[in-house]
Amino acid sequence: MALIGFMEFFSKGKTFRPKKKFNPGTLRYSLHKQAQASLSSGINLRSVVQLPEGEELNDWIAVHVVDFFNRIALIYGTVSEYCTEETCQTMSGGPRFEYLWEDGHKYKKPTAFPAPQYIALLMDWVEAQINNETMFPVSTDVPFPRTFIPLCRKILKRLFRVFVHVYIHHFDRIVAIGAEPHVNTCYKHFYYFVREFDLVNTKELEPLKEMTAHICRDQSPTPQNSTDTPNK
Ligand SMILES: [Zn+2]
Repeated sequence: MALIGFMEFFSKGKTFRPKKKFNPGTLRYSLHKQAQASLSSGINLRSVVQLPEGEELNDWIAVHVVDFFNRIALIYGTVSEYCTEETCQTMSGGPRFEYLWEDGHKYKKPTAFPAPQYIALLMDWVEAQINNETMFPVSTDVPFPRTFIPLCRKILKRLFRVFVHVYIHHFDRIVAIGAEPHVNTCYKHFYYFVREFDLVNTKELEPLKEMTAHICRDQSPTPQNSTDTPNK
C-alpha cells in the first residue's frame, strides 16, 4: 500500500472506530468545543488543561477522557496495519515493560496478549465505560457516581499504554506519514492533563519518562501580575 498523507488519512474519515460524540447544546458539548478551540489557538498546553473557573471538575475530566479516547484511537488507527501478532508478540513498551490484560470478568487473572489483541481489548473496554451512562451521565442533571474519578484514573492509565506502545514500537510509521507533531501534541496535552489532576501516577509514566522530559518543556503558567520581564 502506498503511503498516504496524514491529513488525507483523516479527510477520508478512516478512523479506527466510530467516535463518541457529545450532543450539541449540552454543557459537555460546549466544554468539548472550548477545549478544542484552546488547542487550535496554539496556547500553552500546560495552561489549557487547568479547570476553567466555574466549571465542575467531573465534567472537565469526562470531556477530556472521551476526547483522549477518540484521539488515541485515531493515532493507533494510523499504525494498526503495522501492529500485528508477528511484529508485536507481546504488549510491551521497550524491553523493561510488559502489560498483561485483566478485566475482572472474562480475564480474571493478568493475561499476556500480542499487542494488537491487547489494544483491541483495552479500547473496547474504555469504549464500554464511556458509553455506560451510569458512569458517564449524558445529562448534567444526573450526578456522576462516587466511583467516577477512580474509573477515570484506570481509563487514563490504560490509554497511556497505547502511547507507550505506539511511541516505542511504531514511531517510524508515525514519522513516515508526517504525524509526529500531531502525536506529540496529543501526548503533551494528555501528559499535562493527567499531571494537573494527578490522575496517573509517575510510576506508570516511567516508560516514556525520557521522551516526556524532552518534549514537555512548556513553561509553567505565570501569574497574571507577574513582573517577570526577562528582556528589561
Ligand atoms: Zn505494535
